[in-house]
Amino acid sequence: MKPAPFRYHRARDVEGATTLLAELGDEAKVIAGGQSLVAMMNFRLARPAHLVDIAGLRELDHLGVGAEGGLRIGALTTHHTVENAQRHSLGAGFDVIRDAMAWIGHLPIRTRGTVGGSIAHGDSTAEWCLLAVLLDAEIVVRSPRGPRRIPAGEFFHGYYTTALEPDEILTEIVFPRPAPHAALTEFAERRGDFAIVAAAVDLDADGAAVRGGRVALGGVAAMPVRVPEAEAALAAGGSFRDCAEAAAAAVDPPGDANGSTRYRKHLIRTLVERACEEAMSR
Ligand code: FAD
Repeated sequence: MKPAPFRYHRARDVEGATTLLAELGDEAKVIAGGQSLVAMMNFRLARPAHLVDIAGLRELDHLGVGAEGGLRIGALTTHHTVENAQRHSLGAGFDVIRDAMAWIGHLPIRTRGTVGGSIAHGDSTAEWCLLAVLLDAEIVVRSPRGPRRIPAGEFFHGYYTTALEPDEILTEIVFPRPAPHAALTEFAERRGDFAIVAAAVDLDADGAAVRGGRVALGGVAAMPVRVPEAEAALAAGGSFRDCAEAAAAAVDPPGDANGSTRYRKHLIRTLVERACEEAMSR
């Protein structure tokens, strides 16, 4: 299928792009790597009358450690750039982010797809969305009214729905602190497919002793979720198996063509325990 007709606009800078978006309102969509949007347009699931292409805005393509030790990633940074980043540009303790890239699609998709596009798209199983929720990232957006910073926990509102306003561009994502004992793992029927369920953990460990941690899941609700019950099991000194059982008991994933509720709960048990073990082996 081919997309419905649209007018193409190439943005020269962020200010020009947001001004244009404000003028065009709901009729317009930003396009970055095009890896999700073009498919949706071809299937006529999206019919924007205008596309504002931001791919040329080099100011949004950056990756580096900020003044307070957090990791700042420009919206146009590709998955592939992060996957290949050297340790010094990524910062110590962010291995979970680099390693998670291998789960995203295939090389051509990772070469064109962007971090900002992934987060703005808001797929509940997307690795970037899950990492953002797990590590309490801040999403930085800009509009003609100026910039604003949105905690990841408030950014995702539902299936493919986020806090972004029609005239806002996502400019940067900030991961505030290193996560040396964190891991993300998932299950998909074929390598490169979106996950059926994805699990990510960030453990607070002193040597081999785990004092607590964060647990987040993708593919179990309309958006990635933290699981306080599983985190409580860790804080109470429970085993990784206890934590995984608590996670499976706490959520009620919808069943669909990719897997029933029962199957997803089975995946949660396996994947949370596996993520905990991988996190401790770092
Ligand atoms: P686009 O497709 O250009 O845009 C996506 C959406 O975000 C649009 O609504 C657009 O308006 C909006 N948008 C883009 N950038 C901005 C911005 N800076 N500010 C505001 N809005 C913006 N992703 C995964 O996470 N995991 C996978 O396993 C995976 N597998 C894939 C397999 C296939 C076969 C394909 C085709 C894609 C897959 N993807 C997967 C999606 C891929 O990661 C995309 O890169 C990503 O979802 C969107 O990034 P993009 O730059 O291509 O965004």
